[in-house]
Amino acid sequence: MGVDYAQLGLKVGLECHQQLATREKLFCSCKPQLFKGEPEILFLRRLRPTQSELGQIDPAAYFEFQKGVKILYEANSETSCLVEMDEEPPHELNREALEIALTVALMMNAKPVDEVYVMRKIVIDGSNTTGFQRTCVVAVNGIIRVDGKDVPIQHISLEEDAARKMGEEGLVIRYRIDRLGIPLVEVTTGPVINTPEEAERVALAIGRILRATRRVKRGIGTIRQDLNISIRDGALVEIKGVQELELISKVVSYEVQRQLNLLKIRDELRRRGLRDEDLREDFVDVTSVFRGTRCRILQRAMEQGKPILAVKLPKFAGLLGFEVLPGLRFGGELADRAKFWGRVGGILHTDELKSYGVSDEEETELRRLMGALEEDAIVIVADKPENAMDALRAVVERAREALRGVPEETRAANPDGTTRYMRPRPGAARMYPETDVPPIKITRDYIERLRANLPERPEEKMERLIKSYGINEKLARQLIDSEYDDLFEIIVGETGVAPTVVAATLTETFKALKREGIGVDRLSDEQIIGVFKLVGSGETSKEAIPDILRWLVGHEGARPEDALRELGLTMIPEEELRSIIDGYLDRSAELIAGRGLGALGALMGMIMRDLRGRVKPEDVNKILREKLAERVKAER
Ligand SMILES: [Zn+2]
Repeated sequence: MGVDYAQLGLKVGLECHQQLATREKLFCSCKPQLFKGEPEILFLRRLRPTQSELGQIDPAAYFEFQKGVKILYEANSETSCLVEMDEEPPHELNREALEIALTVALMMNAKPVDEVYVMRKIVIDGSNTTGFQRTCVVAVNGIIRVDGKDVPIQHISLEEDAARKMGEEGLVIRYRIDRLGIPLVEVTTGPVINTPEEAERVALAIGRILRATRRVKRGIGTIRQDLNISIRDGALVEIKGVQELELISKVVSYEVQRQLNLLKIRDELRRRGLRDEDLREDFVDVTSVFRGTRCRILQRAMEQGKPILAVKLPKFAGLLGFEVLPGLRFGGELADRAKFWGRVGGILHTDELKSYGVSDEEETELRRLMGALEEDAIVIVADKPENAMDALRAVVERAREALRGVPEETRAANPDGTTRYMRPRPGAARMYPETDVPPIKITRDYIERLRANLPERPEEKMERLIKSYGINEKLARQLIDSEYDDLFEIIVGETGVAPTVVAATLTETFKALKREGIGVDRLSDEQIIGVFKLVGSGETSKEAIPDILRWLVGHEGARPEDALRELGLTMIPEEELRSIIDGYLDRSAELIAGRGLGALGALMGMIMRDLRGRVKPEDVNKILREKLAERVKAER
């Protein structure tokens, strides 16, 4: 795209959240696991705005509270107890989790705090039964080196994970509290990242260090990145919940694009001479315009007795249809706000009324009633009056922000790298002390003990893998990023299969199978080791490995030996192979007569296609070469 990020003044900071593989949760003894199936326990809570000690009430929380939003929590007894339900105070901080967090901190050259204080961070969405999240800083001022650049690590914290959202129906939001209380380590970088690609590389480097502790959870959902992104003239926007590392650079470049487009809208509004005071909260009931409408959305609303309210956005014509991100028009940003603050289904606006079945006559009448000129836009909402008014107020507020440029806000990442509005950016003073959990002193002795036993750092490990196993740098790096680097060493040690074969299988073959939709991550270490044992003992060939893996994924709990038998991939004994090759040569007399020794390649291809996985290619090659030479000689 050729965007000059340096010139745009792009600054990105990362907040990386990684679940830890502890035996228990952070403040109780429950298993840090998720459950499937039906919950055993359900309980309902009203969302209460939490009041910090400074007496500030979060406006977004207060809004939801006013609307009577209720939270339905789902639980089962194995993964939660009275602590998660907020019926019992938290227990002491999990020491195992603290040790992992401190280990991470030392690996990132950070300075551990003298005493760990648990704090309460206000959370406004019901994802915590208490109304806050417990968090504690364990170390500050770290530094990691990424591609020759020092990246400051501002702090490393230990936090409890939040409940997971399962759905939302009307005023009831459902959360499952199995995830609540799972220990997370949070790593926060300084805002020193200047390109989308660099953001991804830094995240990757942090991920490698976390995994090097061998004490973090793996798999989708166990690591989540929040990104703080700003450009000069834009605003600081926080994007939450990026789960895939490969998405980070996309999220950053999309956000830059969005901010630039919002700045274009700002400039256009200024050019059109819009002033702040032109944007007024004058809401008009326009239901009468649409009595005979063919627009389904409006028909349905009127059947339910809901009025249709409208507001004029002077000089906004054409801008609501302006695309700020692929698939997100500026009108979508207004709609997101309306949905959040008004709990309405959405909005309609004059840049797209026709596509919803509103007729020209209706639009003309609407414009007349609103006193709107051609350069003005109109936004309409059909809902209960109080919701519709809240929605339109939010629309006007967002329109005012458009005149100023980019609003600071918290957004959520979509799976395609685009984002959606989540909530306003929380202000300062969101933290206050957790008095139920005593602070923990961190002694110098303890830190020195940890420091003396730090796990191998990723870059050290990479060098060692290259040196001791003779694999190349690319494979070594892929192995470390694959999370199979430990298994690699076990397999090579136990089976005697060539390190390069093992490494390539665990990285490239696994990746290719995943792309085919084959869930190789479901295979157990024992199964994977078993496959290589069969190769090492000569019972099958390395060419058979992908087929065996494929079969194993499709047959839960099966053994590699079963795969071999079922697939008919046992090795063909040499005697038999010789006579099989004779058969191919007999059937290819013409080919041999024509090409002589040059027929080798074609024959080899034929035989390997039929016998792949049951013979070693080098054996076939050797026998074939011999026999072909004999035949060619005999013909002369
Ligand atoms: Zn518990």
